[in-house]
Amino acid sequence: MPTDAPLVPGEPAGLVDHHCHGVVETDLDRAAFEDLITESSVPAAPGCSFFDTQVGLAVRAHCAPVLDLPAFAPAEDYVARRADLGAVEVNRRFLRSGGFAELLVETGHLGDRILGLDAMAERSGAVVREVVRLEQVAESVADRIGDAAGEYPETLRSALAARLPAAVGVKTIAAYRGGFGFPQERPSDDAVVGAYESWRQEIRATRQIRITDPILIAFGVWSAVDHGVPIQVHVGYGDADLDLHRCNPLLLTDLIRATQGSGASFTLLHCYPYHREAGYLAHVFPHVYCDVGLAINYTGFQSPQVLAESLELTPWHKALFSSDAWGAAELYHLGALLFRRGLAHCRETWFRDTALPDDEWQRIIDLIGSGNARRLYGLDS
Ligand SMILES: [Zn+2]
Repeated sequence: MPTDAPLVPGEPAGLVDHHCHGVVETDLDRAAFEDLITESSVPAAPGCSFFDTQVGLAVRAHCAPVLDLPAFAPAEDYVARRADLGAVEVNRRFLRSGGFAELLVETGHLGDRILGLDAMAERSGAVVREVVRLEQVAESVADRIGDAAGEYPETLRSALAARLPAAVGVKTIAAYRGGFGFPQERPSDDAVVGAYESWRQEIRATRQIRITDPILIAFGVWSAVDHGVPIQVHVGYGDADLDLHRCNPLLLTDLIRATQGSGASFTLLHCYPYHREAGYLAHVFPHVYCDVGLAINYTGFQSPQVLAESLELTPWHKALFSSDAWGAAELYHLGALLFRRGLAHCRETWFRDTALPDDEWQRIIDLIGSGNARRLYGLDS
């Protein structure tokens, strides 16, 4: 049965999911559902299924009971039950079963296919706030100003300034637009105008507005730095659109060093398989935070180890929780449940030989589950 109570007694309630997305609210056949539980853009081979993965098995184990099915119900039964209940009820159950107090929703990815902020708030019963995607702002500016390259720097700056009052932070998908090889220093406006002219040529050739120029990517990030806001950075694992070897967060070391003291902070998202590198950066730089959202869902039954590894170096006051759910509401439920189980596993294994007082553990997990995000994003101010 869905419940607002913590899923594992004694674990943190009132999670702040600091990076997530809207869910789809159309009825899904099996192929459409499987497409939402994989980062692959290609269906499984004929006769094979993405239910045969860590996340697929976790859906059958942990999500089936929320839809009144036995754990490990067959995939066919699962998809049929989903359709019987209808997408609205399914979304409501999963968005409420995770015990979320707040959702910081990034709205830049296929926004026309998913629920908007108000509907997400209604379905989840949580406070919902927006995170703005930098590359989407850049692309909408390019759409607006066309070939007026000289206007690009100022128009981008004002467009970002106009979005920020209603948002708690920004996100960059530089990982998907060439990786972290973009220039780490602040580009001059002249360099930005030159890069924009090249981009216009590309737009004319491809008939598609898709920002990939490294100088323009850097300009977007530095424009956000000037506002002193939290900057979410997709790091590591993602779909086949990125080159994973270019998404190691250590490639951002110069940028991180150059922005120390700026008032901006970087929250490294997902990070797998570079979660230990991310933990190092969070440890040594005061304005770096990290999480293993997305990775927790996709590593499923193995996720306690991933979470434990991410917490080897990450200070308790720098670790964040996110689900990175997009599309399937199940990913919200699973993200919260596996996070809680992972923390319980950490306590069990780390403190087998050294008894840790309950209140000490509660303080630590409350920081990771909500307190750090509340402080970083100013949610209580
Ligand atoms: Zn995301």
